Amino acid sequence: MIKLWNRKAAKIRLVKKEKCTGCAACYNICPVGAIKMAEDSEGFFGPLIDEQICTKCGLCLKVCPEINKFPVKRAGAPSAYAAWNLDQAERANSSSGGIFSVFANFILEQKGVVFAAEFDQEMGVRHALFEKKEDLPRFRGSKYLQSKIGFSFKEIKGYLEKGKKVFFSGTPCQVAGLRAFLGKDYDNLLTCDLVCHGVCSPRVFKDYLRSLERKYGAKVVSVFFRDKSSGWQKYRIKIIFENGKEYSGCFTKERFFTGFMRNIYLRPSCAMCRYAKIPRVGDITLGDFWGIGEKERFPYNSFEGVSLVLINNEKGRGLFNSCQDRYFAVKRELREAVSGNLHLRVPMRPGRDRKRFFLVFNSKGFDCAAEKYLQ
Ligand SMILES: Cc1cc2nc3c(=O)[nH]c(=O)nc-3n(C[C@H](O)[C@H](O)[C@H](O)COP(=O)(O)OP(=O)(O)OC[C@H]3O[C@@H](n4cnc5c(N)ncnc54)[C@H](O)[C@@H]3O)c2cc1C
Repeated sequence: MIKLWNRKAAKIRLVKKEKCTGCAACYNICPVGAIKMAEDSEGFFGPLIDEQICTKCGLCLKVCPEINKFPVKRAGAPSAYAAWNLDQAERANSSSGGIFSVFANFILEQKGVVFAAEFDQEMGVRHALFEKKEDLPRFRGSKYLQSKIGFSFKEIKGYLEKGKKVFFSGTPCQVAGLRAFLGKDYDNLLTCDLVCHGVCSPRVFKDYLRSLERKYGAKVVSVFFRDKSSGWQKYRIKIIFENGKEYSGCFTKERFFTGFMRNIYLRPSCAMCRYAKIPRVGDITLGDFWGIGEKERFPYNSFEGVSLVLINNEKGRGLFNSCQDRYFAVKRELREAVSGNLHLRVPMRPGRDRKRFFLVFNSKGFDCAAEKYLQ
């Protein structure tokens, strides 16, 4: 019998479902493959223990960052920078100022490997590794749904132990999961956490795409969550179909974004996020530098996007300094960064219509639920 997050019936009591971030540390550590990552009733992935296989070794409990609440090492207050990639094409195709690409390029030139998020064939999101610059475009850009970690943590450990440089970028709970899984620091590991509003249900996103496919009469071939053709601050979602047609909508009006921004279908654990604060869990943090220059003048053109870069420790400083010929950066006050970016202070609060949305969504699908709750 397989039980999902069943704290009473299973001998192994994983963290409560609503607190589980789906980081997959338990899935990666299980020595007998007794844990699967399965979809729950809202379409989020979480651990499922097969009790017939489980040997009750307890390793899954030891690595769970939510059960153990591993403290984040403090290395003083982070330094904040407003920065952007000097390669204009890379910056234009990134969500913020394209700093992720700066770091990824540098690591690849050092013969290292990068783990980041890409779309899979079904337009789900997964973490995967890449070693070549030509693969970087797939990993560029934010995809606002939960990414599947798969066995990335195990793979990372393998590379680290062979002495390879590894750069891991993901949500803060994923970085926490990786660190917990590894259980120790590695000099050749660099981690980058993102400022994070929360992750949307992959199932809701897929159903939304199916609805657009019916309307446009063809399969979706690509999705850009942050098309900046109208500017960084007025970004749009852009979806391209197999027949060449294109759908585009401004984030303030578009249906899927409306639900994302109103926190209607974010993962329940995002409302209790322990990482929506300073200090940060990664060596470096990336986000949008929202609010830049609102109080103090920022005399540079920010049309194509400005990244917020937080340097959290010496390792992060080393990476940032090593790439300085590839970006433009200005030091800013940490309080400016924090005041412009809510999720450096508090987690999201679930939307009022969240439960009602899922009731309708699960019985009648995205269109019906959106009609009622995403106007
Ligand atoms: C779910 C989510 C919520 C976010 N919320 C905020 C926010 O509230 N405020 C804010 O300032 N910034 C937020 N960001 C970060 C922001 O959107 C940019 O990703 C970040 O600023 C880096 O941008 P860039 O231009 O340097 O590089 P980009 O190329 O745009 O960044 C790509 C990076 O994002 C990672 N990534 C993309 N999708 C996912 C995913 N689903 N899960 C894990 N990692 C992913 C990739 O692995 C890659 O490292 C969020 C990102 C995500 C994924």
